[in-house]
This record gives sequence, structure tokens and C-alpha cells, in this order.
Amino acid sequence: MAEMRLALRTAEVIAVGSELLGWTRVDTNSLFLSERLASLGIQLTLKTVAGDDRDRLADVFRHALDRADLVVLTGGLGPTDDDVTREVVAAVLELPLIEDPSIVERIERRFARRGLRMPEINRRQALVPKGATVLENANGTAPGLLIEAGVRVVVLLPGPPRELQPMMEALVSGALAERATAERLYRRVILITGRSESHVEEAVQPLYSRWRTASPPIETTILASPGQIELHLTVRAPSAAATQAALASATAQVRDAIGDDVFSTDGRSLEEIVGDLLRSRHLTIAVAESCTGGLLLSRLTDIAGSSDYVLGGVVAYSNAAKTQFLDVSANLIAAHGAVSEPVAVAMAEGIRSGTSSDVGVAVTGIAGPGGGTPQKPVGTVAIAAVGPDGLARVRTLLFPGGRALVKFQASQEGLDMVRKMLIAGC
Ligand code: ATP
Ligand code: MG
Repeated sequence: MAEMRLALRTAEVIAVGSELLGWTRVDTNSLFLSERLASLGIQLTLKTVAGDDRDRLADVFRHALDRADLVVLTGGLGPTDDDVTREVVAAVLELPLIEDPSIVERIERRFARRGLRMPEINRRQALVPKGATVLENANGTAPGLLIEAGVRVVVLLPGPPRELQPMMEALVSGALAERATAERLYRRVILITGRSESHVEEAVQPLYSRWRTASPPIETTILASPGQIELHLTVRAPSAAATQAALASATAQVRDAIGDDVFSTDGRSLEEIVGDLLRSRHLTIAVAESCTGGLLLSRLTDIAGSSDYVLGGVVAYSNAAKTQFLDVSANLIAAHGAVSEPVAVAMAEGIRSGTSSDVGVAVTGIAGPGGGTPQKPVGTVAIAAVGPDGLARVRTLLFPGGRALVKFQASQEGLDMVRKMLIAGC
């Protein structure tokens, strides 16, 4: 009889475990699985978190089977009574559970290596739905299972990420790769800063309909976080070569629509881009920070090799520290306030001359929640960058969000001012 095989195009993930419904544990397995499935051109279309409840899990699993070519369940394969995944899947698929002596033996050996006897309850982990393929677990007792359910495929994997991940890797290069289509998903991530999500959307929207009807069609997702907008372009195609031209042209169109606010199209972060610009021009940088407390310098130095261009920095939180370490005159602070453009410029100039760097960048602001005034509300930040030409650029911005978000957005804007200054060729 010819084997009926459906090429796998869509998948659902069901993360099982009551702890995942609480407030202390997050389902991260589905993130990993989504990425690995995408590498095979299998799209994750829905994911569910289910507690250790037989009836509800059976219900969720049945519906997933109706909708997706592949259903991956994670967790609930342990030996205890509340681990129900194996039993529920077997019941829904109407497959008898049969003890596999070789699994019993393997679990016994695992315990024996630590000088222990296998507890009787672990026998449950050796139960295999009839016809299922057993997936070896190198890092734990619960084996995984792969079940052909008609034209669909069901995969059961243990919950602990360090057990699940190598098992999934083996499936991705083995059984799942054989069952995937010849097509793969290719993604380009475009990073934008200095604009709100709706401004980006407005500028890019006219392109969407063109991309949807292109061949191959390009799908888009826009993700907003404070200080950064991500535009994801995804193409399904049989080879990377077939997508290159389409993604390159779409990326160029985004650049045309948005201009210099697009800062990365190749996966590099803002701090990496700034570092690469400095290095390629043999320039050095130094940082003076008040409200960001060192975050900007920390981000610059997150990049390996940043000692090529980072000279150092000063966190000058108090007015006295601004005067003592950055040579900002006390009169200037008295006249304009510590959060002001003249003080930001003086800080940038102070660190630049103090370290003899080519570029000086400075941040001074009110991160909150206290300290705001009607004239300078919480979130007001003055940012200055002095370039190799000795000229100062300075801006005052009002950032939304709490303390941590204000600090991040201020560091983002500081890095971006340096980037824009450098690409302008100063
Ligand atoms: P075990 O044999 O270890 O009991 P199991 O398959 O029963 O395996 P669980 O008991 O459900 O796994 O989970 C064990 C551990 O894995 C827990 O610490 C749990 O928080 C973690 N875990 C389970 N599911 C996930 C998930 N979806 N994402 C991240 N961690 C998870
Ligand atoms: Mg569990």
C-alpha cells in the first residue's frame, strides 16, 4: 500500500504544565520550536498553554489535530500522576499504550549510574502508543515520541528546555526534514529608530499590497518596542537564491520610504552599527552620562572588539560630579539646570577633551518617577554629540514609560545621534 504523506506546512504547539499558567514560569519552548520549525518552512500557526488537566488537554489536542499538519506537545511526560500528555494523546488517537522494555532498561541504567533503583512510577515513561517512534532523550528519563496520525504528525517532547532542545534538533535534521516541503522560510529584519510604530506603518503601508502579490509573496510583521521598531519580511521559497532579489528590493523600498531612520538590515544591533562606523573611520568615542547611569557605555562595550574605538566614560550623576569630572561650569548648571541642552553639550565637550576622543556623547535627563516639573516633566532628556569636526549636535526629547524605559530610549537616541552624525560624513 502506498504511504499517504502530507508535506508539513503548518504546526501548532501545545505547552503542557499547570506551572506555565501561573505567574512564575514562562513557556519558552514554543519560541525555540517556532524558530526551528521555520527553518524547515513549517509555520507555527497557533500555540496553546494547557494545565495538567486530562479533559481540557484532550480538547485542545483534538482541535489542534483538525487544524495543523504537525502538533508538537511539550511537557507532562514525567513519571508523576499529574504528567498526563502521553495518556491523553494515546486516548485521543485511540492507540493502546504498550510498555517498551528497552526504555525501562534505559531508565533503570540511568538510575543505576547514580547507584539508585528505578522507582516503580518511572515505568509510566516507558509506555509507548502503538506504532510510535521513540526519540531518545540524552539528558533525562522521559523519551520523546513521534506518532503518525493518519496524514498528520504528532510529536511529544519533555518540558525541560535542555532535554527538549537536542531532541528537536535531531528531528529537524531527520524525521521532520523528510516530511517538510521543499520550501523554506527566509526572513529579513529591518530595524528602525527615531519614529513611532504608526509613522513607520504609514510610510511602509503602500508597499505591503505590492509585496503580497509579488512572486514570491513577501509577508510582513511589524513589532514595536520603545526606541525601536522591527519590520520582519518573510518569504517562502525553495532556495535562498530565489529570495535574495525579492528581499533586497523590498529592503531598498523600505529605505526609500523611511530614510536614515532605518539603521540595520543585516541583523546588527545599533551598538554594533555605531561601532563598525567608528572603526571603519578610525575614530574613538567617549561617553558622559547622567540619567542613563552608564547604560550607553555599557551597550557600546557589549560588542566584542569595542576597545578599538571606546576610550571610556564618566557617570556624573550629581551637579558637583559634572563640574569635577567633566568641567561643566557650575554657573552654566545654575543658569539652565542640569537637564538642559547647554549642559548636555558641555558634558559631551568635557568628556571629549578630557579623553582626547574624536566623538563625545552625553545624556542628561529626568528618568523619574520623581523630579519632574511642569517645564521639564519626567522623561525629559537632553542628548548631545560632538563630532570629529568639533561641532555639537543637541536634542531634547520627552520619552514615555517608567525609569528603565526612559533610560533605554535615552541610550538608544544617544547611539543614534552618533550614527547619524557619522553617516552624514562629519
Ligand atoms: P520531567 O521528566 O522532567 O518531569 P516533563 O516532560 O514532565 O519532564 P515538566 O514536568 O512539565 O516536564 O517540566 C519540567 C521542567 O521544565 C519545569 O521546570 C518546567 O518549568 C520546565 N518547562 C516545562 N515546560 C516548559 C516550557 N513550555 N517552556 C519552558 N520551560 C518549560
Ligand atoms: Mg509537568
